[in-house]
Amino acid sequence: MPGTRTAVIIGAGLIGLSTADSLSRRGVEVTVLDARPGPVRGTSFSNSGMIHPSQARSWSPSRSSTRAQCDAESAVRELATESMPLLLSRMEELGLDEMRARPRGCYQIFPDLDAARAVQTQLASDGITANVVIDPGRTFSRPALFFPDDRSGDARAYGCALEAELARRGVTFIYGADDVRMRWDSEAGRVAVSLAGHRFRADDVVICTGERSAETLAPLGLGARISPVRGWAVDFDLPETHDLPPVPVMDSVSRSALTVFADRFRLSGTWDEDSARPLLERWAELIPDVLSAAGQARAVWSGLRPVSDAGRPYIGAAPIPADRGDTAGEPGTPSRLWVNIGHGHMGWTLCAGAGELLAAMMVGEREDGRFAYGG
Ligand SMILES: Cc1cc2nc3c(=O)[nH]c(=O)nc-3n(C[C@H](O)[C@H](O)[C@H](O)COP(=O)(O)OP(=O)(O)OC[C@H]3O[C@@H](n4cnc5c(N)ncnc54)[C@H](O)[C@@H]3O)c2cc1C
Repeated sequence: MPGTRTAVIIGAGLIGLSTADSLSRRGVEVTVLDARPGPVRGTSFSNSGMIHPSQARSWSPSRSSTRAQCDAESAVRELATESMPLLLSRMEELGLDEMRARPRGCYQIFPDLDAARAVQTQLASDGITANVVIDPGRTFSRPALFFPDDRSGDARAYGCALEAELARRGVTFIYGADDVRMRWDSEAGRVAVSLAGHRFRADDVVICTGERSAETLAPLGLGARISPVRGWAVDFDLPETHDLPPVPVMDSVSRSALTVFADRFRLSGTWDEDSARPLLERWAELIPDVLSAAGQARAVWSGLRPVSDAGRPYIGAAPIPADRGDTAGEPGTPSRLWVNIGHGHMGWTLCAGAGELLAAMMVGEREDGRFAYGG
């Protein structure tokens, strides 16, 4: 329709899909391009499924307690809190009633009670509720914190359902788009996107390329301080009889989790290990009987978390780079190139809120400097 605002989104992971959703609700005509053959095939494919505002803090071993780091963590906490009701209402609209009705909460187990209490005290000062528990069945007799405000759900199932709904609403998806070209357009003063010689009509271009964001932005003269941090996921069939906890159990030692989904359970996480072996060895210590009853793994997967140096995602307009001022506007001023990148270990938790925030900024409903782009 002439006059309708148009946007091209690069990336059909949880973040790109959520951004497409929020833009299309605002009447923007959206096209989503992804290099892979379908939606949610990147890092969003097989994550731990935890919607966990409780973990809205840096997982990096080099975490500092500088003012900037504290501000970043509190911004992520706020966004996680905004995202939760939105994500639940999206699940309801998509008819994902079982996912929405999953029992609330997540556990995190610790080597000893003192370690659990220390984290509880730290979280309380950030306003996060965590109760100390030792439940032989659910926490494998380990001291644990229970986070009653966390939730869980199958992120891939959600992403696929959202993509199908967006397609019904008129969003265009192009997969196998592994040679997307972008350049600053001197006449239009914005970014031109083309694929196999076809140029897209796009008032706005949105980068949701997860761990590949630095390489995606480089041809435009922009950087992205995002490091890919590998994690693993190993799926098993549920043993015929089992007593596994219905909510995820995180292990503070290995930064991994056990999550039960409808027909399988998943061990997933770890921080930048080369193989799934440390993950499996750790859970063999924690639940030896379950693992021997489960037998062969059904699937082994690894993905790269897009971890930003700033300890928070970048959500907002990218600035016009210094050497493009003559063509696209004043260097350093916001352009109509937008980013929604760097969600680290929190992308499933933040997706609905991050998509909504960026869409609101793009149409001028909201201004927000908390997640300003820092290439
Ligand atoms: C083991 C593991 C467990 C996790 N557990 C949780 C959890 O319990 N809770 C939670 O909140 N988060 C969790 N996460 C983090 C979460 O999965 C990520 O933050 C999230 O998936 C990132 O989504 P994304 O859309 O930014 O990236 P992706 O899902 O990677 O999507 C990016 C897409 O962009 C496409 N793309 C990239 N570059 C280009 C290009 N140049 N051209 C075309 N297409 C391109 C890719 O093909 C990909 O499909 C976990 C991550 C891992 C690895």
